[in-house]
Amino acid sequence: MTDPDVNLLGLPRRDLEAFFVGVGEKPYRARQLMKWLYGRGVLDPAQMTDLGADLRRELAARAPLRLPEILAAQESADGTVKWRLEAGGGQAIETVFIPEPGRGTLCVSSQVGCAMDCSFCATGRQGFNRNLAAADIIGQVALARRELGDPEGRSPVTNVVFMGMGEPLANFRAVVQACEVLVDDLAYKLSRRRVTISTSGLVPQIRNLAEVARVALAVSLHAPDDDLRSELVPINRRHPIAELLEACWDYVEATNTREITFEYVLLDGVNDSPAQARRLAGLLARRPAKVNLIPFNPFPGTSYRRSAPEAVEEFRRILAGADIVTVTRRTRGDDIAAACGQLAGRVDNRVRVPLGSRQQETTWS
Ligand code: SAH
Ligand code: SF4
Repeated sequence: MTDPDVNLLGLPRRDLEAFFVGVGEKPYRARQLMKWLYGRGVLDPAQMTDLGADLRRELAARAPLRLPEILAAQESADGTVKWRLEAGGGQAIETVFIPEPGRGTLCVSSQVGCAMDCSFCATGRQGFNRNLAAADIIGQVALARRELGDPEGRSPVTNVVFMGMGEPLANFRAVVQACEVLVDDLAYKLSRRRVTISTSGLVPQIRNLAEVARVALAVSLHAPDDDLRSELVPINRRHPIAELLEACWDYVEATNTREITFEYVLLDGVNDSPAQARRLAGLLARRPAKVNLIPFNPFPGTSYRRSAPEAVEEFRRILAGADIVTVTRRTRGDDIAAACGQLAGRVDNRVRVPLGSRQQETTWS
């Protein structure tokens, strides 16, 4: 009936309406389909009883309205669940659900691997294979909801964070589409504050994001000076700290969000000294910023070590002393390699192109 490459799962409402109009149907069919897909978790058109028989047949004929296949599921002692999902062509991605009192956070992947090459990250070490489509991203949410059920009559997924495999802003279009579905009242109904994009610092895309999706933003800073940050997070050579922070403050103003969360992985003897904490405080004090200190999660082959608890506490104390809200993230799911930076899936690295040219390919158009 139509372009077989359009996957209806993960399509924002207006695109879905355009799709139905394009096939001679009324735009309200989009609402009906969204209620089935996201409200009831029904993907089989045959069960969508308020659509006409012909339309049901046509939708069924134009698959795929299907969720990714689960290759493995693991549950941590702390209740964290990790799914390893088939991503086509022998590749795999990972999705993690982290239950906490009163909320449940789903950590989704946005790419198969990651090209940003941060030195302390298991995903980055594997290289990059491909961008995920919006359907693949929303598929992770739909799959988690199906697997977790609604034990208390409501969805256990209250928050979605783009902190799994990949650099979300290097897959801008699909990630923005997925965000639209996450916040749509006919789909997942999450408030914008409960959807967080975490980025290593792609400045032009941060600026574009402010115009199209006013979701919460987390920025992986990890160092208070350019020399060290460029070593840990290579994109810093292209967009150094001052430029990045300016884009962050502009984002807050343009989007009316409360603040930016700065993530800072503490690496023993690398970025965890009191002097570095003071320098970081100098960058963020009196700004709309909060800091998330992340204990380093080791993975096979890395030579970095986790900072001592006393160093973490001293670092936190210095930031708090400058009136910066600072939280030390509790490590979750590390017994099943589901913690930050441990996600590895299966990635056949296809490109290791210089950062500059790679960025051109992935910019929002
Ligand atoms: N690419 C995005 C989002 C995915 S990574 C980004 O870099 O922000 C999610 C968070 O995990 C980032 O803050 C990242 O720096 C952090 N991280 C990466 N490797 C880690 C590791 N080995 N231990 C702890 N955190 C890590
Ligand atoms: Fe990519 Fe984020 Fe890992 Fe850096 S930390 S390599 S941007 S996933």
